[in-house]
Amino acid sequence: MKDYHRKRILITGGAGFLGSHLCERLLNEGNNVICLDNFFTGTRDNVLHLLDDHHFELIRHDVVQPLLVEVDEIYNLACPASPIHYQYNPIKTTKTSIMGAINMLGLARRTRAKIMQASTSEVYGDPQVHPQTESYWGNVNPIGPRSCYDEGKRCAETLFFDYYREHQIPIKVARIFNTYGPRMHPADGRVVSNFILQALQGEDITLYGDGSQTRSFCYVDEMVDGFIRLMNSGDDLTGPVNLGNPDEFTIRELAEKVVAMTGSKSKLVCKPLPHDDPKQRQPDITLAREKLDWQPAIKLEEGLQKTIEHFDALLKQ
Ligand code: NAD
Ligand code: UDP
Repeated sequence: MKDYHRKRILITGGAGFLGSHLCERLLNEGNNVICLDNFFTGTRDNVLHLLDDHHFELIRHDVVQPLLVEVDEIYNLACPASPIHYQYNPIKTTKTSIMGAINMLGLARRTRAKIMQASTSEVYGDPQVHPQTESYWGNVNPIGPRSCYDEGKRCAETLFFDYYREHQIPIKVARIFNTYGPRMHPADGRVVSNFILQALQGEDITLYGDGSQTRSFCYVDEMVDGFIRLMNSGDDLTGPVNLGNPDEFTIRELAEKVVAMTGSKSKLVCKPLPHDDPKQRQPDITLAREKLDWQPAIKLEEGLQKTIEHFDALLKQ
């Protein structure tokens, strides 16, 4: 394909877990991909296999600073996503969400690029409506330890819609529910990576609380497919659109599955429940089904198998 036929796509946070899979998929589809990252939680290793492709560019840059590049599409993923990482420097997390959104929306305005925001199910907080629909306004603590992330992401959504109303920018807001798969950061404390690593190393499996809280887990390839379908949808679809797998599990069930699938001798032990930990979470994906013809098909066991193989290989390196 001639270069001038290729779209120029910017992915902020492109060296992270979701971003690296998105870079790979968009490159494979014949696009020019610019991956921007400050390497806070992402690594060059996540995109090492893409560096020889001359349609791929890697830029070390922080989204709190403006950036001038010519692009057709922007996927704004830059933001630490795991509680350990986003609480490490909470003020920086809020800055990343808000100033990152302002800078990327400014870039979209100048270049007339389409822009997708990686928002989150955390905008629903500890939800009192179940499953969560896009029309639910949420139950978020504005002053707790999770607020830097939750309120930063809520304000970013506000900015997206104000730029849309004020400047008619083509926006897309995806509300992403828990996603897992290869290249999750091994030390970010998220439940799937924690349990798999603990099971593979014969360590205790740390259930926070009694493990009765629920989450719904989506495999990374399907999430990336959802992003691309949303970006390619008509300009009338701004979102927010929930993206996630509606199959809901208790955290205890997840632990038991991981132990069984790894054949581990690890024991389940209960640890204190983190502050403001949501008790239940399940996306209503009616909108994504209707407007994007998207729904996950990969069952938890299948996705876990691939993720276990990834971490097993990592431990043997
Ligand atoms: P991740 O931590 O692996 O990736 C985030 C990336 O952003 C990293 O590469 C990090 O270095 C980069 N980054 C952070 N701050 C930056 C800054 N100021 N400037 C430039 N780069 C910066 O997390 P992920 O799971 O890949 O999440 C990607 C996006 O999706 C995040 O915005 C997150 O909020 C959102 N999200 C993820 C999930 C999930 O389950 N993985 C759920 C909801 C929302
Ligand atoms: N969790 C757990 N043990 C762990 C890590 C997480 O029981 O070692 C729980 C956590 O308290 C939460 C759920 O698993 O209820 C999902 O946690 P994660 O940090 O992966 O995502 P989030 O809370 O942001 O959905």
